Amino acid sequence: MEEKMMIIDPHVHMTSRTTDDYEAMAAAGVVAIIEPSFWLGQPRTQVGSFQDYFSSLVGWEPFRASQFGIKHYCTIGLNSKEANNEALAEQVLELLPLYVHKENVVAIGEIGYDDQTPAEDKYFRAQLELAKELNLPVQVHTPHRDKKAGTIKSMEVCLEHGLDPSMVVIDHNNEETVKEVLDRGFLAAFTIYPKTKMGNERMVEVVRKFGSTNIIVDSSADWGVSDPLAVPKTASLMLKRGISREDVRKTCYQNALDIFGMNGKMKESDWLNPSGINQTQLFNDNSVLRGQEPKVDTDKIV
Ligand SMILES: [Zn+2]
Repeated sequence: MEEKMMIIDPHVHMTSRTTDDYEAMAAAGVVAIIEPSFWLGQPRTQVGSFQDYFSSLVGWEPFRASQFGIKHYCTIGLNSKEANNEALAEQVLELLPLYVHKENVVAIGEIGYDDQTPAEDKYFRAQLELAKELNLPVQVHTPHRDKKAGTIKSMEVCLEHGLDPSMVVIDHNNEETVKEVLDRGFLAAFTIYPKTKMGNERMVEVVRKFGSTNIIVDSSADWGVSDPLAVPKTASLMLKRGISREDVRKTCYQNALDIFGMNGKMKESDWLNPSGINQTQLFNDNSVLRGQEPKVDTDKIV
């Protein structure tokens, strides 16, 4: 039997997902994930809500992932939608430096444009400057409306601020935008949505046409209709449709590791030599269990 492929999902909002999702992802080969800072479906009204959210992305959520054998990393940033509340946005920007150095923070993100308003532009640029100053990769959310123009504008602004395109992942691509992104030397990520937008059948054809260099597959699963297994499912569909194992490995694992591993916090040894699941552990006195027998990989504990 062929060895099971390791998968990284570099864009998944696990805060909105269940422990069943974590179990299914681990069973499907997901070894590591990146959770971008995002909005919550309704706008936050106070800076403290951002602070607690960022704290959960560097605290509780990595613990929760560890309880199911998955390494959790995150990106920190002010999302485009909430950039439009300028009074709040100013305060959120002041918070960011408190989080960017935490041990699981691998990039600034997800930032960019939603409606392409002047406020979105202002805070996108401010955060690009922060990324440049810290030499951190950037994860860019491109708008779902007016996608192609918004994607091109996002890249032009990155270049204007002197960012190296090989440090910037442009996400939510489709067949219309991928060539522009790759031609400019940026990484092109694809969010695989069930039923709509970018589906995994289409992803297979993108890889067939453009190859695997600088292309990344993610799920962007969150509180909306989405699939936290989108990356492993796309990987197996690619293999079934004759895409080479090496191309699948690059698009569903290695390319994400190469860019998000740049600052040295995300590294293969984190999951190649796991300490094993130990559900007797607690986080601030809290467990993920509700009276179940804790799972402990005793054989792996050194
Ligand atoms: Zn997202």
